[in-house]
Amino acid sequence: MLKKEFKRKDVQRARNLIMGNSGASTGTQIGYNKKTEDYKEGDVWTEGRKTWTIKNGIKQTISKLDILKKEVFMPLSCPCCGKVMKKRLDKPNYRIHKKCHDCVIEFEHKLKIKGEYKNYIKNLKAKNSLDIVDEMESYLLDAINTSNSGFVSEDGVIEKWVGGVDKEKMTNEVKEAAKTRRKYIEKTLNDKERA
Ligand SMILES: [Zn+2]
Repeated sequence: MLKKEFKRKDVQRARNLIMGNSGASTGTQIGYNKKTEDYKEGDVWTEGRKTWTIKNGIKQTISKLDILKKEVFMPLSCPCCGKVMKKRLDKPNYRIHKKCHDCVIEFEHKLKIKGEYKNYIKNLKAKNSLDIVDEMESYLLDAINTSNSGFVSEDGVIEKWVGGVDKEKMTNEVKEAAKTRRKYIEKTLNDKERA
């Protein structure tokens, strides 16, 4: 079952990307103090003109959360067959396919008969990877551009940047890294399709 969400290692990678290179190449170290604020998972607070919370250890604005909620919001009945979606597997399937588990099974069964199933799974995986890259990029850019207020570590502790952050440089680095990653995923996908 494919899940669209941040994995622990993604967050770690994000931190490495931010913390790792930037200081080293210029010879200055980006330091941080722990426990500037004591916000925890689920806390909601206002900072600047935005309302923030911490979800899965990631600091994010409430509006962003709302969009996320809208995306995973599940209607009562399947848009495909009209049956009420109340089974355990309906929810994760709806999140990815926008239809109930039964409809997904039927759809995938048809693909198997046509011999298109393998390619479909590959596409799905690549799409999922691209989605993660997109989320990661916007998360990182967000983190950089709000970095005056700090960066939330995995355990929910805000790490305040000291000595300033070269926002422009870091923004470019993140965009570049995301671009490289996207190219790689797309290339892998094309290679597999040809094979
Ligand atoms: Zn259905």
